[in-house]
Amino acid sequence: MIRCRLPGKTGRWPIIVLWSEMEIKSLKIPSQYLLVPLFQNGYNGRVEKIQKAEMNLHSLKKLRKELHSKPELSGSEKWTSQKVTEVLKTLKPDQLITEIGGYGIAAKFSSTGEAKQTLLFRAELDGIAVEEKTGLDYQSTNNGVMHGCGHDGHMAILLGLASELHQQPPEMCDVWLLFQPAEETGMGAAAMLADRAFDEIEADQAFALHNLPGFAEHLVLVKREVFAAASVGLEISFEGRSSHAAYPEEGINPSDVMSELTLFVNREFDEFQSGGALNKIVTTYIKLGERAFGISPGDGRIGFTVRSESDEWVEKAVKKVEKKIGQLRKNFDGQITMKKTEPFAATVNHAEGVDGVISAAERLDLKVEEMSDPFPWSEDFGEFRQKFPITLFGLGSGEGHPPLHSETYDFNEKLIATGVKLFREIIDGGH
Ligand SMILES: [Zn+2]
Ligand SMILES: [Zn+2]
Repeated sequence: MIRCRLPGKTGRWPIIVLWSEMEIKSLKIPSQYLLVPLFQNGYNGRVEKIQKAEMNLHSLKKLRKELHSKPELSGSEKWTSQKVTEVLKTLKPDQLITEIGGYGIAAKFSSTGEAKQTLLFRAELDGIAVEEKTGLDYQSTNNGVMHGCGHDGHMAILLGLASELHQQPPEMCDVWLLFQPAEETGMGAAAMLADRAFDEIEADQAFALHNLPGFAEHLVLVKREVFAAASVGLEISFEGRSSHAAYPEEGINPSDVMSELTLFVNREFDEFQSGGALNKIVTTYIKLGERAFGISPGDGRIGFTVRSESDEWVEKAVKKVEKKIGQLRKNFDGQITMKKTEPFAATVNHAEGVDGVISAAERLDLKVEEMSDPFPWSEDFGEFRQKFPITLFGLGSGEGHPPLHSETYDFNEKLIATGVKLFREIIDGGH
């Protein structure tokens, strides 16, 4: 067995003289190096480092701005997905699966040694339905849609990590990089999980980060157990019959039952609300009739959002609303239907994963804050807990940074390098 010696201080590898093809085969060359033949017989050569594609910080920032300028809504991330796939292809993952549960993508970088475990990292593809007012030269060109949650930055971080893994493959673990569609509607993770193509994606631990305005720049925010709340939207439709306002008795006006349901939700959820600080049920819209005085309206709609740190409490609250609707039906001649929408499971972190994030951050001299309360908003990452342990953590975007989902928000690009380093450290330091 002939072993390659590492190059000396000159950075040059010694010329290796080989006498047979057998010897070439037995030569142990690390994957990032290549035997370049010097003579025609092809046996004598010099080992040189393979020139690999690279996403440096400059190109990552440029790419982030391009992604920012073309945001797409949940479930419609066609261009974004193509762009990410295009970049990933240049970084030659060992496996690349596209169109998982819509526009989802998964790329695998295999270990150079014996893989002890598999780690997964996730970013999101979608923008939100808000008209951007940042005035930036790379502002959204898609009217009414913007990258107002920083998913453009999260994608850049994961592509930066892909570049690192391409340059220096992981030694002791396999790594999956996951680009998830439709995070904002809570539909994407479930759609990916339901897709057969997802069956081959396994992980011992899965990680994701979210940038968090309002917290010091680069601060790593961790939380044991529940990181973000579970939630569900309830859409209640009332189908009555409109009539002339002078003859309301000829129609079926749902205003009575709608008021009763709203009052019920606002006043009779004491047990639910006292069950946990995050337990909330909030009326998000009420729609009935037009601004006219000659019509008694027939159709109405109400929206509620139910939030809790526990999936079970959300279930309980939904049942309570359902039961009330059952009672209201008895006093209403029209139809009442209820639809659940945008369901988010609670994001419940895994203890080992949280420890991994803390120790990686400390090794990088990043400040860590352990939060005592979970966030009241929801994150679709929690859904993946069905398949593997997950850990979601926050990365501070700066105390005065415009809030997520606001029209003046833009991802803080300084977090790209921090995010890549932190993920890489979780990979390299985990064993
Ligand atoms: Zn968001
Ligand atoms: Zn987000």
